[in-house]
Amino acid sequence: MSEKVLVAGGGGFIGGHLVARLLNDGYDVRSVDLKPQSDWYQVHSDAENLVLDLAEKEPCEKSVAGISQVYNLAADMGGMGFIENNKALCMLSVLINTHLLQAAQGAGVERMFYASSACVYNGEKQTDPNVTALAEADAYPALPEDGYGWEKLFSERMCRHYREDYGLETRVARYHNVYGPEGTWTGGREKAPAAICRKVAEAKLSGNHVVDVWGDGLQTRSFMYVDDCVEGTTRLLASDIIEPINIGSSELVTINQLVDLAADIAGIEVERNHDLTAPQGVRGRNSDNTMILDLMGWEPSIPLRDGLEKTYNWIFEQMTSS
Ligand code: NAD
Repeated sequence: MSEKVLVAGGGGFIGGHLVARLLNDGYDVRSVDLKPQSDWYQVHSDAENLVLDLAEKEPCEKSVAGISQVYNLAADMGGMGFIENNKALCMLSVLINTHLLQAAQGAGVERMFYASSACVYNGEKQTDPNVTALAEADAYPALPEDGYGWEKLFSERMCRHYREDYGLETRVARYHNVYGPEGTWTGGREKAPAAICRKVAEAKLSGNHVVDVWGDGLQTRSFMYVDDCVEGTTRLLASDIIEPINIGSSELVTINQLVDLAADIAGIEVERNHDLTAPQGVRGRNSDNTMILDLMGWEPSIPLRDGLEKTYNWIFEQMTSS
């Protein structure tokens, strides 16, 4: 491939995996992140790696120079514990998305991917653990997750209007809970699968088999392994799908089942200690994959057990190798 591709947020979890995939596919890749390179989850030496603050316009202009396709995965985000307590910070990601869109349009970028989230969906449709999976139309009338979800929904629409008004070919994915190795697993921004793997690994290592679980554990979710996420992302940018589309697994589990799966992988039995005061997010959420199957003939399909095993093993290694 002669095209040069930008991955914004390339030092992050999904961004790091995406850069690897694009390099493997033969693309010339520029990877940009705010964090010092020592904090990137993966640094790929055959990419051009830059540390820049994409909330500012000038660094965005520098990042898109000579680029034909942009993958925008840069955001100030984390799991429920982070987004429920940092709503203003989450909303400030609008600066990244605005400046990157402006810069991309100014530089004549052809295609731009935006990582939106299932947090854009109307909360009233997610009050029952026996969920009806969320279809794309369920984002409206709008009642998204406060803070983080509102910013995502606004940025989705900005992408739409940059396409309609300026011809920048924007593509928008609504990711549903992505997990895998080389991502956040401790420190307060981690999401449920990584947090549960860490807690189960701690239980295994300490011999104290009591695991804290946020909420009653009956809340339901689906979890997508990062390889499926990257596959869907590259497929979407190359496609002519102009409406926001779910990229998520439809394998629904309760959080209790997620804990049991991690314990089984670790080879231990655990007792769950439910913290009913902790942030829990919506009661139930699943991805309706009718549209992606119709339009792409593909959907994320890596079984949770397979992906969780790789994630658990990686986290266990992080905890025991230092
Ligand atoms: P991540 O936090 O690991 O990666 C985001 C990266 O963006 C980080 O490395 C961060 O340093 C970088 N960043 C933040 N502010 C920046 C700035 N001003 N300039 C440059 N870089 C900046 O998160 P992730 O899980 O890889 O998520 C990637 C994208 O996918 C995000 O937009 C996120 O909202 C979206 N998403 C993720 C999930 C999930 O389950 N992981 C679900 C839905 C949507």
